[in-house]
Amino acid sequence: MTEHGDHDQDHHVDRALLLTFDDRHIREWAAAAPLFTRYGARVTFFVCEPDRLDRDDLRLLRRLADDGHTVGCHGLRHERAPEFIAAHGAGAYLDREVVPALDALRRLGFPAWCFAYPCSARDERTDRLLLTLFERLRGGVSADRRADPCLADELRVPAADVPARRVLLGCSVDSGRGTVAYGDDLAGVEAALCRTAADGGVTTLYAHCVAEAHEANHVTPSRLEKLLALADGMSLPCVGFDELP
Ligand SMILES: [Zn+2]
Repeated sequence: MTEHGDHDQDHHVDRALLLTFDDRHIREWAAAAPLFTRYGARVTFFVCEPDRLDRDDLRLLRRLADDGHTVGCHGLRHERAPEFIAAHGAGAYLDREVVPALDALRRLGFPAWCFAYPCSARDERTDRLLLTLFERLRGGVSADRRADPCLADELRVPAADVPARRVLLGCSVDSGRGTVAYGDDLAGVEAALCRTAADGGVTTLYAHCVAEAHEANHVTPSRLEKLLALADGMSLPCVGFDELP
C-alpha cells in the first residue's frame, strides 16, 4: 500500500492509472472489491443494459459506488455508435441507445458522467455528439498493441493535457474469452504505467469480467492483482474517471 492510500480524492491528480471494466459483470466486479480495497484502488465500471440489472446487481453496484468507484454508461444495448448512426441517424442513436441508458442509471442513483464506447467503435462525430451528454468518453487502441513498448506514447495523456482531454483511449488487459487465451505479453501496458509514474499524466486500461474463466472477455484475478501491485509499487494511484480534473 502506498502513502497515497485513500486520500487521493483530496489532492490534484497529477498521475494516475485509470482502470476500467465494461459491460454488466456486477457480481464478479463486486467479488473483486476486496482486491481494489487492498491496493487503495478506485476504478470505473461502465455498465450496459442498466434496465436489466436485478435487485442483487443494484445492491452490489451501489456498494461499489459507495466504496468510491465510478459508475459510467456503456449504452442500452451495446450498439456500436458509428454503425448505429449510419443506419438510423444521430438522433435515433441518442434517443434509443444513449439517453435511455443514461436515464436508467440516473434513476437508479448513478449520475454517470462518463461513457465508454461499446467495442471502442467511435469517430470524431460520435465524440462531438456524446460530449453534449458526458464529461468524458473512453475509446480504445487495438489490443495487439499491448505488447509493444511504444504503446506508452499512444496511451499516456500528459498531466497538462488531462483537464481538456475529454476522450481517453484505453488498452485491453483481458486474459481471454471463453476457451481463447489472449497473449500474456503486456510489455506495452507495463511501459505505459512506468512512464506515467515517472512523468505524470494518466494511462487508461480496460477489461470486462473478473474471473479465472468466463465465456465473455475476462481478466483473471491474478493478472488484475499483478497490475494493481505494479502501479502500487510505483506509487501510481489508481483512480476512477469521476476523480479526474
Ligand atoms: Zn462492452
